[in-house]
Amino acid sequence: MLILDGKIASAAIKERLKKEVEIITGSGKRPPHLAAILVGNNGASETYVASKVKQCAEIGFVSTLIRLEETVSEEILLKHIHDLNTNDSVDGILVQLPLPKHITEQKVIEAIHPAKDVDGFHPVSAGKLVQGLPTFIPATPYGIMLMLEHYNVETKGKNAVVIGRSNIVGRPMSILLSSNIKYGNCTVTICHSHTYNLDELCSKADIVVAALGRPEFVKAHMVKEGAIVIDVGITRVEDASAKKGFRIKGDVDYAAVAPKTSAITPVPGGVGLMTIAGLLKNTLQAYRQSH
Ligand code: NAP
Repeated sequence: MLILDGKIASAAIKERLKKEVEIITGSGKRPPHLAAILVGNNGASETYVASKVKQCAEIGFVSTLIRLEETVSEEILLKHIHDLNTNDSVDGILVQLPLPKHITEQKVIEAIHPAKDVDGFHPVSAGKLVQGLPTFIPATPYGIMLMLEHYNVETKGKNAVVIGRSNIVGRPMSILLSSNIKYGNCTVTICHSHTYNLDELCSKADIVVAALGRPEFVKAHMVKEGAIVIDVGITRVEDASAKKGFRIKGDVDYAAVAPKTSAITPVPGGVGLMTIAGLLKNTLQAYRQSH
């Protein structure tokens, strides 16, 4: 069984990005610049944004973090996005989700200029993805594709089950795996909360991508011998014995499932790290397109 290690794969990608940035700055040009907006102080969101900012610095990107109060109005948030859209020194914009209830997420997603949409959530980016056109791929599915590429995991002709149909993970993942691209060309079944025979569908799949946000949902009986299992789930589960008072759990019962697989991503240390690698690659792409 091969562990698809996000630490190793993302480090290799970041090393290559760092070299590209050195060439850019060595030629006298400014480095790529990612601007992040964080609304409120949700613990998980704080952690994700801090990690994105830190990793930008590690590879030589500039980053700006705009922190806004939980009570900020939608209007002010949209004004910040507009300012970043028109700021030529900013290449990529991300607004950390989820947002407080009084703000309409879709409005915010659509306010980001498609040329700076490094999270790939804008309908223009999503539409291009569906049509197989060059675009910003949402960072998590992109990270998974980069993981498959790093470990040269053959996907062609395989049956894949994607559990979850969100716009940020499940849906784009299903599109990528079914696309006529390297590390695509799968026959994809997409499952959701109304799927009746999910256990059976999963147990026949060569590739299972679990992106539903239910800790340890995928059990050993749902996985075929030799399957490839990608665990996207990140859920904080209370645990008084843990230093922080919680543990991060994936959507796969790793201990029981891993021995049956030919390859599997751990949580933590798998897809989460690749997501940031995907975001950084998108930011460099945005920079190159504007230069
Ligand atoms: P989401 O928007 O809540 O979507 C969850 C999807 O799972 C929905 O399509 C839902 O179906 C489906 N689902 C829920 N319960 C189900 C069940 N019992 N059986 C079958 N399908 C079920 O979540 P998300 O944003 O896609 O995120 C999914 C997980 O990935 C979360 O744990 C999240 O924290 C994690 N995540 C990780 C990363 C990373 O970097 N590793 C990035 C993003 C998200 P319906 O559509 O029918 O409701």
